[in-house]
Amino acid sequence: MSLQKAGYEQGPIRPPSEAGSLLVRLTRNCPWNRCLFCPVYKGEKFGRRSLEDISKDIKNIAFAAGQIRALSLSSGYDGKINRQTLALIQSEHPALFQLAFWLFRGGENVFLQDGDSLLLPVPQLKKILNLLKTEFPSVKRITSYARSRTLTRRSVEELVILKNAGLTRIHVGMESGNDEVLAYMKKGATSAQHIEAGVKVKAAGLSLSEYVIPGLGGKTLWHEHAVDSAVVLNKINPDFIRLRTLAVPPGCPLYSKVVSGEFILLDDDGVARELALFIETLEGIDSYIYSDHILNLFEDLAGKLPDDKADMLGIINSYFSMTPKERELYRLGRRAGYFRTLADLNNKTLCSPVEQLYSSLKEKGISVDSYIRENMLRFI
Ligand code: SF4
Repeated sequence: MSLQKAGYEQGPIRPPSEAGSLLVRLTRNCPWNRCLFCPVYKGEKFGRRSLEDISKDIKNIAFAAGQIRALSLSSGYDGKINRQTLALIQSEHPALFQLAFWLFRGGENVFLQDGDSLLLPVPQLKKILNLLKTEFPSVKRITSYARSRTLTRRSVEELVILKNAGLTRIHVGMESGNDEVLAYMKKGATSAQHIEAGVKVKAAGLSLSEYVIPGLGGKTLWHEHAVDSAVVLNKINPDFIRLRTLAVPPGCPLYSKVVSGEFILLDDDGVARELALFIETLEGIDSYIYSDHILNLFEDLAGKLPDDKADMLGIINSYFSMTPKERELYRLGRRAGYFRTLADLNNKTLCSPVEQLYSSLKEKGISVDSYIRENMLRFI
């Protein structure tokens, strides 16, 4: 049986928590595109895709899903997307594997790309959401990025309309709650706008993920960045607080400020200290914290507030109770991709290649910090 490739457009990124989601592109790139720390869409022009094109994409995906089910049926698997169907698709129709895998996982989650879908007119978004729910009755979660400034222009009533049409979660790049950091980084939103936007999303009954960038205040504003970010989140009480540590690749405007010495990056110990202050200052909220990005020093710095606050702070305290050499080894192992948690330092199988790498860097006169800086850029 020959299957047609599903013709639909995809953008470059999605949040880490949407790794298994079907990606449906509503807009291209970012309408703001000025944040100093963000390399993603630089040099690309923002564009809204037409309702006609988006609908065509969704119908093409539904057609391809139908073909995958038909292949399963004709191969004796009852139309189910099981491991056998997946293996068949992988060997004979690899272009459809991503979609087949999504169906295999239940076909439940959809992420709307790119950087700020909520600026599309509400009636248009409603039609898109309705079409997604009609073509894919299995879909339970539909999420999107939105800028705080865009959300401040939406009424709670409009957000409720979108929720009733199937939108379930908004991901907001808050990055910082400190106005000096936000202005310097050209985020295009103030702390007051972050709060207004977040409170509206929650009032509409939508789930809310807020992203914070540890390290974004640099050496000068790390304290203010930690405290004010927590204070803003205390006023929003988002469902999720997600951490993504600052890394500065050559493609982003912040890079030249780092090279010139205008912006001084925090080292890992500085970021860990900042994180401890940030978590200590989070109060009166019941958000989940996730550290689900490879750039973060502690992958297991996660839990629900307020119950897991002490355990999360305990991870950072354990890090600082290690010797400087142990800390260096841990940082190296984490950034070289061997370690996920501090406990991995006690795992001989994982630790042995890290020790070898450590020795070889010392022999060559390469500092662990410069190796780490280079390696972090691989993950952007
Ligand atoms: S708003 Fe988001 S996508 Fe746009 S430039 Fe800033 S960080 Fe990047």
